[in-house]
Amino acid sequence: MSLSCAGAEIVFWFFLSYADCIILHMARTQITDTTKKIGEIVDIYGWVAVRRDHGKIIFIDVRDRSGVVQVVLGPWSGEALYAQAQDLRSEWVVHVQGLVKERPANLVNPDVPTGTIEIEARELTVINQSKTSPFPLDTDGYAINEELRMQYRYLDLRRPRLLRNLMARHRIIKHIRDYLDREGFCEVETPILTKSTPEGARDYVVPSRLYAGKFFALPQSPQQYKQLLMAGGIEKYFQIARCFRDEDTRGDRQPEFTQLDLEMSFVEREDVMRLNEALLIDIVTTLFPEKKIQEIPFPRLTYKEAMETYGTDRPDLRKDKNDPHLLAFAWVIDFPFFEKVEDKKVYHPGEQWTFTHNPFSAPRPEHMAWLMGKEHIGEILTTQYDVALNGFEIGGGSIRNHQPEALEKVFEIMGYAKETVTANFGHMLEAFTYGTPSHGGIAWGLDRLCTLLLNEPNIREVIAFPKTGDAKDLMMQAPAELEEKQLRELHIAIDEKIKK
Ligand code: ASP
Repeated sequence: MSLSCAGAEIVFWFFLSYADCIILHMARTQITDTTKKIGEIVDIYGWVAVRRDHGKIIFIDVRDRSGVVQVVLGPWSGEALYAQAQDLRSEWVVHVQGLVKERPANLVNPDVPTGTIEIEARELTVINQSKTSPFPLDTDGYAINEELRMQYRYLDLRRPRLLRNLMARHRIIKHIRDYLDREGFCEVETPILTKSTPEGARDYVVPSRLYAGKFFALPQSPQQYKQLLMAGGIEKYFQIARCFRDEDTRGDRQPEFTQLDLEMSFVEREDVMRLNEALLIDIVTTLFPEKKIQEIPFPRLTYKEAMETYGTDRPDLRKDKNDPHLLAFAWVIDFPFFEKVEDKKVYHPGEQWTFTHNPFSAPRPEHMAWLMGKEHIGEILTTQYDVALNGFEIGGGSIRNHQPEALEKVFEIMGYAKETVTANFGHMLEAFTYGTPSHGGIAWGLDRLCTLLLNEPNIREVIAFPKTGDAKDLMMQAPAELEEKQLRELHIAIDEKIKK
């Protein structure tokens, strides 16, 4: 009897303290929600944006992820609290407990969402102090030296514009995931440590410790894996995938970037284009209702038409280029499959001919005979489709060659030796001999799409921790040297000439 009573008591105490935890946890009010709590005591947590001393009254603008609110202290606050507030500096992290008060009509600030209220502080706790920020955080930041912004990116991210960009990017990605999930797609992660294969750009490589003299490569895209997923019967795959390309600085590129990567089995070009067009329209109309899509369905141009009319394969079709909310999507199709190597300044181990887009693409069905006969090579058109937006390429894909003989012909035309083909693509050719379905897909440059939708001038503004144009991470100070011991383990000797 007494035992069970004690038991009940323990359960009761446990319940109470658990409930306390919930109450404590729930006690934080997001700053934008304070307007709904007039007459209540709230607890806000955030950063001191500005402190203004007006003689007997101190105003502190406190900022959290949701916004900014004015906290006020005066003679009524008591000396100790007032003195505490006088010490506060910008970017200190604080917890303020206070009473939400409606402002008299003449003091309402219509420019701030919380401008109808202010918080009369009752208690103040400094959670952490801050050194003076090397640059202002209350501007849009465009005028600040970008290298400095990157070095202190964690401060730069406090800027409302950057916060807005990351939140919008999150919503775009979530929207894509939900949409494709409803369409029956399965998100699959593919390896980051993979093999170096000639796919167009230079690979980032990772030395193997266990296998001296051998290297992994970081994927330029999940192209081969997604095709092997089709061989594996996945049928509808997508991934928000990180891709790595070791290219020399080329304008607004990043060594690592994000794709929406997607592949489908038993499809024609039309199916892939239709799905992607619908998804792009859905993202814009749901998340960016202020934007106007110039033309639906998206206009389609052949590569030839685009080059002849606009001199580029990613034409900017906007009728009014001054309108920041106008989106002119366009598909470009019927690209040549091959081009002469000397026309393309990319890393390429073969001779004479190389692919314009993707070695795994199928030719247009009517040109399959030319491919198999290795005839009219320069005239063979690929099933490649690119999607352009306001003059930028935001995606591209194709229907693939699922017959091993046809894929082999592509490599032969590019002059790859049999051993090179076996060493680099043997697994693909082998997989295609085991009943690989017909398939096709696409990849979007997600950073670029976000940049355009958010009207940002470059992709670094929509990436949390971007690298500089010359491929450095200024915050982490990467790339960096390794310890002698690490180098030894990796069987790497640094050339004396490049040692300091
Ligand atoms: N893997 C290709 C790329 O990264 C896209 C595709 O064809 O799906 O450009």
